Amino acid sequence: MTRLPNGGRIEVICGCMFSGKTEELIRRLNHVQLARQSLIAFTPRRDTRYRTGSLVSHNGLKIEAITVASIADIVSAVPDGTQVVAIDEVQFLESDPQAIAAGCQTLADRGVRVVVAGLDQDFRAQPFAIVAELMAVAEQVDKLFAICVKCGSYATRSQRLINGQAAPHTAPVIAVGGLELYEARCRICYEVGVA
Ligand SMILES: [Zn+2]
Repeated sequence: MTRLPNGGRIEVICGCMFSGKTEELIRRLNHVQLARQSLIAFTPRRDTRYRTGSLVSHNGLKIEAITVASIADIVSAVPDGTQVVAIDEVQFLESDPQAIAAGCQTLADRGVRVVVAGLDQDFRAQPFAIVAELMAVAEQVDKLFAICVKCGSYATRSQRLINGQAAPHTAPVIAVGGLELYEARCRICYEVGVA
């Protein structure tokens, strides 16, 4: 396999909701396309906010993507000679964190540039183990921030509100439906939900 200058590495783009992770991922992938490198992008099937089959940023940029369930699906779908593999919303993959990190390392060891984007913390401000594991083994980590809706400071946390109240600590980490809402908040404005 031809090894490109940027090959054989893992890049993690992380941060809270509304921090522009997908925009940054798509920006890098646009450069990959301009450089005429071969690219495969994946998105976990759990992320149903947008039509499956493409990465779409909040501002409408789009990259075609394959919908997958697990890291095994990704590793087996990458043909020899692929130069860049992208995974958006990596925290939604249905595999254990060590397996996901190992799969990404396998690809990087083969010379692939692996670019992943995902939430670093859940709504309880606890680390997403998948992203924490990947950050530890990555060559490059970029942590993006949003703007706190309360005070305008840089926000690093995703506040989950259910009927206007901070979601209880015991609520499921990934919830679908219901009268819930997410806001970007800074450390000071972030509210801990009571059970
Ligand atoms: Zn704030």
